[in-house]
Amino acid sequence: MIARCVCGSVEFEATGAPINCVACYCDDCQEGARQIEALPNAPLVRDPDGGTAYVLYRKDRVRCSRGTELLKNCKIRPKSDTNRVVATCCNSAMLLSFDDSKHWVDLYRSRIQGEVAPVQMRICTKFAPEGSKIPNDVPVYPGFSVRFIGKLLRARIAMLLGR
Ligand SMILES: [Zn+2]
Ligand SMILES: [Zn+2]
Repeated sequence: MIARCVCGSVEFEATGAPINCVACYCDDCQEGARQIEALPNAPLVRDPDGGTAYVLYRKDRVRCSRGTELLKNCKIRPKSDTNRVVATCCNSAMLLSFDDSKHWVDLYRSRIQGEVAPVQMRICTKFAPEGSKIPNDVPVYPGFSVRFIGKLLRARIAMLLGR
């Protein structure tokens, strides 16, 4: 699986099956998207309903295969553990990574080339912009869902077991 910035200078490779594919509507994802979308010529980060779609992979299965030197970590708050990694060549949002021990990264689904995993759930929808029409094609959760956390835990256990 390849995630590529709009101009093609930055590329990430992911191997194996993703942990999950979610659209998140939380305040941080909206604010992060707003900040990145405000950069010159930046492609849209959010979907029209205010959600941002991510494909989650174990972090040991994702690597930057091109353009590492063009990456910049953006933080909404200076002390936040969450980095929104932007390709500075064309201001494409590439992924979320974490300074703490989280074991996964969230690739922005819009950057993934070719066949993309469909969104499996929509989370934190209680924070969605007022009046936004959230599709109910997949399960919708007002906060974080137990299923979402369960999938992350299973991936962590598989990593600990060396699978
Ligand atoms: Zn680029
Ligand atoms: Zn979010």
